[in-house]
Amino acid sequence: KLPAYHHRIAAAVHSVGKVPLGIKRKGLRIVVTGGAGFVGSHLVDRLIARGDSVIVVDNFFTGRKENVMHHFGNPRFELIRHDVVEPLLLEVDQIYHLACPASPVHYKFNPTNVVGTLNMLGLAKRVGARFLLTSTSEVYGDPLQHPQKETYWGNVNPIGVRSCYDEGKRTAETLTMDYHRGAGVEVRIARIFNTYGPRMCLDDGRVVSNFVAQALRKEPLTVYGDGKQTRSFQYVSDLVEGLIRLMGGEHVGPFNLGNPGEFTMLELAKVVQETIDPDARIEYRPNTEDDPHKRKPDIGRAKELLGWEPKVDLHKGLPLMVSDFRLRIFGDHKEGAT
Ligand code: NAD
Ligand code: UDP
Ligand code: UDP
Repeated sequence: KLPAYHHRIAAAVHSVGKVPLGIKRKGLRIVVTGGAGFVGSHLVDRLIARGDSVIVVDNFFTGRKENVMHHFGNPRFELIRHDVVEPLLLEVDQIYHLACPASPVHYKFNPTNVVGTLNMLGLAKRVGARFLLTSTSEVYGDPLQHPQKETYWGNVNPIGVRSCYDEGKRTAETLTMDYHRGAGVEVRIARIFNTYGPRMCLDDGRVVSNFVAQALRKEPLTVYGDGKQTRSFQYVSDLVEGLIRLMGGEHVGPFNLGNPGEFTMLELAKVVQETIDPDARIEYRPNTEDDPHKRKPDIGRAKELLGWEPKVDLHKGLPLMVSDFRLRIFGDHKEGAT
């Protein structure tokens, strides 16, 4: 048990938000909204391993307890079932705001991006926490600039089927900057490009999870449209490293966090065939409305100011995801059970 003065020092350190020289810092208190989801749970693993105390706030809309269950019983870990659309009172140092229905089948008609972000900014303002928004490459819409730099304002249809997500995130960025300028909240903005890895939702309709699950189940790979549209796929550990550097650094951003390796959907299908089943068939389906034709990050800013760049390419990362999917599809572990 620590002597009483240790607690007093910890409280004093927390109240000024800075560590006086010579005092060993206790871990930070960090909220991760959406922490039971795919990206969030990997972030939580890193923060817990680093010695921080983590509170996950999640309504399990697409997240799963299984993703964070290995931390149950750790006194530095807490899990709160809560919808961020409702106000929330906590005392913390940092807020990683990831909560969001993030895939096309889930994100329609949901006010999380706007109301949830507003609440978390209100929380950050009240307690003086640093706030990080996980925005998206979708803010560039169907881009007329390639690759996309952070200075590009985007080409987004405000009334289209995807607009709830991309305009929602654009509004979230606006709110974030308004709280920064107007209320002095310390903020960080990441624009995340397509990310894949273990713990991705199995049936959320995203292309990498679809292709991998289809190849494993011996179903045809569904290529939408002519398959010539491009995306850049980032492995989740690279993203988590980028988010932590961004939160810890001095720059507001926005920062593109993505892997510049660009693939057509047909090329992606080929990598999946090589990795799982060379005989997997391809089946063409009509493409969805307003599908961006191409997307590739310019990561010059993150390289220069955060000293960050991705390390895991698709050929290295995909097999790591396949092992996890194999276990979840064929193992004892049933998808969706909580
Ligand atoms: P995910 O669906 O696995 O995680 C989102 C989490 O948020 C889930 O656990 C879900 O239950 C939770 N959530 C949703 N609505 C909520 C609400 N109202 N209240 C509380 N919790 C709620 O998705 P992910 O891929 O891990 O995405 C995490 C973040 O990264 C999202 O903000 C997403 O927009 C952003 N992002 C992801 C990608 C990607 O390719 N994975 C790309 C760009 C941006
Ligand atoms: N909020 C929250 N937790 C807090 C502080 C605020 O959820 O600890 C919510 C609050 O309910 C409001 C939003 O954040 O809906 C914005 O708060 P802010 O104080 O900026 O705005 P105000 O309440 O003054 O309109
Ligand atoms: N896509 C596809 N087959 C699928 C799912 C998606 O060809 O089974 C295509 C989709 O049309 C889009 C690309 O893959 O052009 C990426 O889609 P995803 O939903 O994964 O990401 P986003 O469009 O949000 O970048």
